[in-house]
Amino acid sequence: MKNIILFGAPGAGKGTQARKIVEAYSLIHFSTGDILRSAIEKKSKLGVEAQKFMKKGELVPDNLVIGLIEDKICANKNAKGFIFDGFPRTVEQAIVLDKLLERIEKPISKMIRILVEEEELIKRLKNRAIEQDRPDDKKTEIIENRIKVYLEKTLPVAAYYKNQNKLTEIKGEGTINDIFERISKIL
Ligand code: AMP
Repeated sequence: MKNIILFGAPGAGKGTQARKIVEAYSLIHFSTGDILRSAIEKKSKLGVEAQKFMKKGELVPDNLVIGLIEDKICANKNAKGFIFDGFPRTVEQAIVLDKLLERIEKPISKMIRILVEEEELIKRLKNRAIEQDRPDDKKTEIIENRIKVYLEKTLPVAAYYKNQNKLTEIKGEGTINDIFERISKIL
């Protein structure tokens, strides 16, 4: 089993690459952002609660997000592996994830961090706002807050997996296929 975390700032290209990896390696895509957006669309209790944070570019509280991961892992115990995209976003989430995977004896194999300069991230997020109609990409101040939250709360997760010798970094600039090739070499 291969359990891979795709890591990077908002706009680094995690979702795009995760979809390509899933296709090529038959892994299960786990995107907390996608699950939360679908909960908002359905107006479920989780969606209503999550939206309050997402529209400001803040993280959804750990207790809400952790429930999602437990459900998904338990429902897919025999999978070839997972691609975690946008999760874990805090060290607390990483600790819970590691414990869950330890219980089923399928630990994280690698974290792949996609590195992109901040200026390029902002440009990409503004383009995505038009292409995908995501409300959290539309306002510059929300984009800036998401990058600030990433630096403060999410970046320590990379150090957490570096300590476990699981972190690999790649350049996230170039075409989608260039980046996918870099990832494939690691996988
Ligand atoms: P994403 O699609 O991964 O960029 O996520 C969009 C938004 O969903 C984020 O800005 C957060 O508000 C929320 N979100 C997604 N994943 C998480 C997570 N693992 N922990 C907390 N909030 C999350």
